[in-house]
Amino acid sequence: MINGILAAEELLASRVAYTFRTYPKQITALIAAALLSAGTLAVASLGPDAADLPVQQVLEATAPLSFAEQSESLENFSFTLFRTDITRSSDTAEALLKRLGISDPAATAFVRGSSEARNALFARAGRTVTAEATQENQLKKLSARWIPDGDGGFKRFVIERTPVGFVALTERDTLTPGTRLASGVIRTSLFAATDDSRVPDAVASQLADIFAGDVDVRALRKGDRFAVVYETFEADGQALRSGRVLSAEFESGGKVHQAVWFQPQGQKGSYYRPNGDSLRKAYLSSPVEFSRVSSGFAMRMHPILNSWRQHNGIDFAAPTGTAVRSVGDGTVDFAGTQSGYGNIVIIKHRNNQQTAYAHLSRINVKAGESITQGQTIGAVGSTGWATGPHLHFEFRVNGEYQDPTSIAQEGGAPITASLRPAFERIAVGARTELAAAFSVIQASAD
Ligand SMILES: [Zn+2]
Repeated sequence: MINGILAAEELLASRVAYTFRTYPKQITALIAAALLSAGTLAVASLGPDAADLPVQQVLEATAPLSFAEQSESLENFSFTLFRTDITRSSDTAEALLKRLGISDPAATAFVRGSSEARNALFARAGRTVTAEATQENQLKKLSARWIPDGDGGFKRFVIERTPVGFVALTERDTLTPGTRLASGVIRTSLFAATDDSRVPDAVASQLADIFAGDVDVRALRKGDRFAVVYETFEADGQALRSGRVLSAEFESGGKVHQAVWFQPQGQKGSYYRPNGDSLRKAYLSSPVEFSRVSSGFAMRMHPILNSWRQHNGIDFAAPTGTAVRSVGDGTVDFAGTQSGYGNIVIIKHRNNQQTAYAHLSRINVKAGESITQGQTIGAVGSTGWATGPHLHFEFRVNGEYQDPTSIAQEGGAPITASLRPAFERIAVGARTELAAAFSVIQASAD
């Protein structure tokens, strides 16, 4: 495999010698593209979507060269190397540039001495940084993009080598909406599979909710598989944020489940099966989102009483601070402290039904406030009579305690006849996209 790629590069290099003078732009772009396609070996984890940007930058760099300069540059021909890494909370200029394969004291000194660079690169861990380097590992260009708080746009930070030294620039730009297709096969867990497919955690959590009545994502089997189409918000072709799941398929235990997001104009959107049945439940199956922190914990009965009846509820073990969400639409009946419950939120739903969330470390809502399904109302804690951090969850009908595992069943209405044609168009498109998403995994698995 490595030999194959090197051979291809050599071949390309010899073709470059032949055609470079006549088609400098196309050829340099071709080399950049070849390097990018070899990226999994030569370049660290470069997303396929980022491919456009470095290609353009190579074009800019070579275009102004005169014929004589071109000949000279041909003699000293060197590849531009692209490397990408993620910032860490412990990062220093030295550490980050080293991981990016840069060996360039002047570049390190520039990053260390520029407050703008330090702010862009080290203010927050988890930012994706891309470096372009010469064959000698000298820095040509470095860039990072991120979404600032409470803002619809993104920021782009660039350091560039110029004849007079390095210059840094921070710009503001708008995010471009897009969609991404992905698929995965379960080997151990859902999160392991979504990591392999570079699907964000927020999308994995949505999958768990969408298929909650059909698939228990905590008990998947090896070989179960999923495909998903979701919204992305991109900066220069790099997805910085994920949005809503638009369609998804889960094959679990040999059964296939599909979901399509459909939002008629001026109405609330919801997920439907391809036949038009609603996947919406009056109540979510869990008041704790399926997440990387909570995925290892299952809901449990009281260890001593061992039944919801004597205990009046179900406990969800999760670390302090884990978000607690309302399982249904409603209004806050009570938000405050009640002796044994500690900090508790009680929400009133339709048909004289109530849900209660106790032992909270934090309360985010006030009595009388309107709440939508899935809204965060507080955080897991151990206030009141609790031996350790957990969420105590109750379901009451006309003030009587009911088994919380029995409540999630009633669903939303199916697609109406008048909306059926519009829905069918969306559903057909979704099926095509999901099939395409599965073929992506076929290709990469081969
Ligand atoms: Zn409890």
